Amino acid sequence: MVELRDLNKWYGEFHVLKNINLEVKQGEKIVICGPSGSGKSTMIRCINHLEEHQKGDIIVSDIPLNEDIKNIEAIRKEVGMVFQHFNLFPHLTVLENCVLAPIWVKKMPRKEAEARAMELLERVKIPDQALKYPGQLSGGQQQRVAIARSLCMNPDVMLFDEPTSALDPEMIKEVLDVMIELANEGMTMLCVTHEMGFAKTVADRVIFMDGGQIVEENEPHEFFNNPQHERTQLFLSQIL
Ligand code: ATP
Ligand code: MG
Repeated sequence: MVELRDLNKWYGEFHVLKNINLEVKQGEKIVICGPSGSGKSTMIRCINHLEEHQKGDIIVSDIPLNEDIKNIEAIRKEVGMVFQHFNLFPHLTVLENCVLAPIWVKKMPRKEAEARAMELLERVKIPDQALKYPGQLSGGQQQRVAIARSLCMNPDVMLFDEPTSALDPEMIKEVLDVMIELANEGMTMLCVTHEMGFAKTVADRVIFMDGGQIVEENEPHEFFNNPQHERTQLFLSQIL
């Protein structure tokens, strides 16, 4: 579903991603953790070409990510992304945020797009907010809109970059609950998060990054109870 082969990226002289190899199968849930600046965001942003890589291969839903703009657009249709800061359009209602891409990118008729959006807003438990603007919603509600909006495109894969780290504690759970439900429905997910409870419940594999490399990966029980690498041990001792 997602394959990274020998992925390397530089910001100028700075070698930010070093020989990343990762294969994510359909329905797999991967949690990515690691210290600040280790390259977690950069890695997942490469997957839908929000960042350009310089060496190695990225393949998403059998489509190779190369210079061909057709491929990039095709991949973006299959990849949903949820950011730390929601990134909703503030001047559009919740419903308009949700139908924008289906109508303009997928050429879906408005009626159908709206019906689908309402279904997804129900799934994230905020159908009553459909006609409000993002600024009128709580952070947790905005993040659930962001998830619903991504799902409106029927993506093959969902990428999450610290979706709860900008939220007040009481709102974290409502977003994690939506993510857990999505995981249980079989969505393929790559989540950068330090919510280790979520990792333990949902992840098939936990990946630890440091210094632009994947230092360690394992299934959650082993990862948390028996970390192999010194840097993983140090990281876990600081966050758990
Ligand atoms: P955090 O946990 O703080 O979000 P991260 O693991 O997501 O960190 P990245 O945002 O991927 O880390 O950044 C990796 C490294 O690349 C950092 O050293 C960062 O300063 C650097 N970096 C990120 N974006 C750029 C950029 N546009 N230009 C130059 N350097 C960058
Ligand atoms: Mg980051």
